[in-house]
Amino acid sequence: MIPLAEAREHVLARCSPRGPVPVALADAHGCVLAGPVVAPEAVPPWANSAMDGYAVRAADVAGAAHAAPVSLAVVDTVHAGAAATVEVGAGQAVRIMTGAPVPPGADAVVMVERTRGGPHAAAVEVLDAVEAGRNVRAVGSDIAAGTVVLGAGTLLGPAHLGVLASVGVRRPVVIPRPRLGVISTGDELVDDDRPLGPGQIRESNRPMLVALARSFGVDAVDLGTVPDDAEAIEAALVAGAGTCDAIATSGGVSMGDVDLVKVVLDRIAEVRWMQVAIRPAKPFAFGVLDGTPIFGLPGNPVSSMVSLSLLGVPGLRRLAGRADLDLPRVAAVAGADLGRRPDGRTAYLRAVARWHEGRLVATPVTGQASHQLASAADANVLVELPDGDGVAAGDEVVAVVLGLPG
Ligand code: AMP
Ligand code: MG
Repeated sequence: MIPLAEAREHVLARCSPRGPVPVALADAHGCVLAGPVVAPEAVPPWANSAMDGYAVRAADVAGAAHAAPVSLAVVDTVHAGAAATVEVGAGQAVRIMTGAPVPPGADAVVMVERTRGGPHAAAVEVLDAVEAGRNVRAVGSDIAAGTVVLGAGTLLGPAHLGVLASVGVRRPVVIPRPRLGVISTGDELVDDDRPLGPGQIRESNRPMLVALARSFGVDAVDLGTVPDDAEAIEAALVAGAGTCDAIATSGGVSMGDVDLVKVVLDRIAEVRWMQVAIRPAKPFAFGVLDGTPIFGLPGNPVSSMVSLSLLGVPGLRRLAGRADLDLPRVAAVAGADLGRRPDGRTAYLRAVARWHEGRLVATPVTGQASHQLASAADANVLVELPDGDGVAAGDEVVAVVLGLPG
């Protein structure tokens, strides 16, 4: 057996980021910026009002108070989207809406709540003094033109897309999300609604692995099920490698007579078959076929989920150019005694983590066998239990986050 870290390093050494391409903003979510983005424009592009109110000269209203209002002549009204052309002279004000350009001559905005007057009144009474600059959003106060607004390697989240749009960058150059093809193998697998024949079970890994990969930022596609037949497996792998950036197979990498994924990969790819010192998901094959990484996951449903989470995700995120290669790890406390026997392996217990009285409490689901997907389905973390005798309820543990705790 080899440590998980060694298997992970083996994978990472054989996965490198895809080439940069320009993409539409709508497709850039979850992608990594290939280079820095320099803002071609300032945001805001001109000084504008942060409030609905009156643009004034601060000096004119320096003595204003509720008991001693200052009356100003209203010489114009300016809305968002309009140009401010009328200059504010001494003793004058311009009625202004949020987001409208501050007119020349004015240096502050008094919010409408601090005034008396009305939409069509010729004069306004200002009830409060304002200092110069109050309620004015200065040119470039969000982003100055010519500055690096987003650095190379930024993982683009929703607000980053908004930032790019705000400076007029419509097609950022990114490392595209990798396309992962998911293939299941096994003569026993049925993937439609026909009644099960002798020895048959329903295929469950493809929908799960496709959704899991997508939830981790990968564009996954379902490439179907192939029987335990070397030729069929080879054809599926070759076809998949032609259309995808990576392939994940499930099944056929253990010690059985028809564990043929291993055999085929040995013949057509550069492959390493590993016994990883983890439970579940000990068997793992990693191959490269014409430059396409292939993750040979074990077939047991829970094992394939854990294997993709711990070994697939870092490799796929490396292809995506991401710096955050692994699923996040957090500190939690064990919600129950987590007993185990020493066996040279790190256990990854499927658990439900909840925020409880100021702590994250991770309670393992009942049914930890690697075929018990129904119980594992509720898990939002994998509790990492080092080799040994386990830990007691209340002890601190490390949890790998699969989904955010509620
Ligand atoms: P294998 O890794 O091919 O030896 O499969 C291990 C166990 O997982 C066997 O009990 C298989 O029947 C089961 N299995 C393999 N692939 C799948 C699948 N796609 N869906 C459900 N069970 C599977
Ligand atoms: Mg099999």
